[in-house]
Amino acid sequence: MYPVVIRQSRYSGVYEGGRWFAMLNTDNVPEDAIGDDMDCMVFWSSGIENIIGVGDDPNEAFADLRRKYEDMNYIGDETQAIEKLRAKMGEDKTLPGPGWNHIILRCDRRLTMLDSEYEIFQIKEKFGALRYYYKTNSKYRAVVEAMAKYVDEAEIESMYTCEECGERGSLRREIVYRKTLCESCHASR
Ligand SMILES: [Zn+2]
Repeated sequence: MYPVVIRQSRYSGVYEGGRWFAMLNTDNVPEDAIGDDMDCMVFWSSGIENIIGVGDDPNEAFADLRRKYEDMNYIGDETQAIEKLRAKMGEDKTLPGPGWNHIILRCDRRLTMLDSEYEIFQIKEKFGALRYYYKTNSKYRAVVEAMAKYVDEAEIESMYTCEECGERGSLRREIVYRKTLCESCHASR
């Protein structure tokens, strides 16, 4: 995981989520990361595009980078990534149907990039839509807001994604269930 660049944040964490940040394998810190207000706001809330550790001292920033880097190693292997996600969950480790796995994993990665120590309480289906219950201890408002935005996005995406197979789906209202499914999964129920 070397070389690593560790620098002080330009806005003391307001956008960055920590007073220091640590980046991998780079000679040049992206200009937006240390640019003006607007550039910084966009850059630091962009989630998964950059693996950057943040913390209130250089060691914390480095430890955060390490957690995020390890999390990224699971990209591409859905089964492993789901197992790792389950390990992070509390007592209730059940998940909705497999058609939403990609939505859940992307959401988890984005949240991890913003706060590598966030907690997952429960991930479930309710009234045909994903519900992603989590908690962050971040004291930075930009981080808290960006996380909430990503969870909203994931929950909305689930409303038109088949919970069984991941194809495009819509809400099916039956007497015995209410689920978001594609045409063929709905027919085969
Ligand atoms: Zn389907």
